[in-house]
Amino acid sequence: MAVREILHVGNPLLRERSRQVTRAELASVEVQQLIDDLVDTMHAANGAGIAAPQVGELLRIATIEVNANPRYPYKPRIPLTVVVNPVIEPLDDELVEVNEGCLSVPNMRGNVMRHVNVRVRWWDRHGVEHDEVRRGLTAGTFQHECDHLDGVLFLDRVHDTRSLTTWDEFERFHRAAFIERITEFVERVGS
Ligand code: ZN
Repeated sequence: MAVREILHVGNPLLRERSRQVTRAELASVEVQQLIDDLVDTMHAANGAGIAAPQVGELLRIATIEVNANPRYPYKPRIPLTVVVNPVIEPLDDELVEVNEGCLSVPNMRGNVMRHVNVRVRWWDRHGVEHDEVRRGLTAGTFQHECDHLDGVLFLDRVHDTRSLTTWDEFERFHRAAFIERITEFVERVGS
């Protein structure tokens, strides 16, 4: 078990494209340890997800979990999911504007457009292949983590920079309206 240091925006490693993981690598002690470290680091930071490049490892691996998350209390629950070599494909053109933050972008949130319905294919930590549909805010969380594997941060997708806020000012000025809108969305779309 180890909580790793999280790299912050400005670190060039966050802008690299991470490489595919082979089955032999995935089975190795080192990569299994990295996955454990990602889970520990995500939990310690109350993240909804974390990707390997955020701890400086340029491998296509991310972990996702939402369970009454204090950073994002409106997000539907996601059981702990380890995604290796994920591929995301939008199922249609429906988009939703989501207010996001990121463990690698301290004290900043902003609005990005995310696909509402996506097909995601990945291997779990045991190399078992998954091919599933994710919807709503959960689909957005998968897109955010997969972006990290291509060196993309949510900041790059903020279409109106006037939506950028610190966490305190989000709470103070924007939280109520966002929660009202996104709660209606979650009730309509589900997770
Ligand atoms: Zn992030």
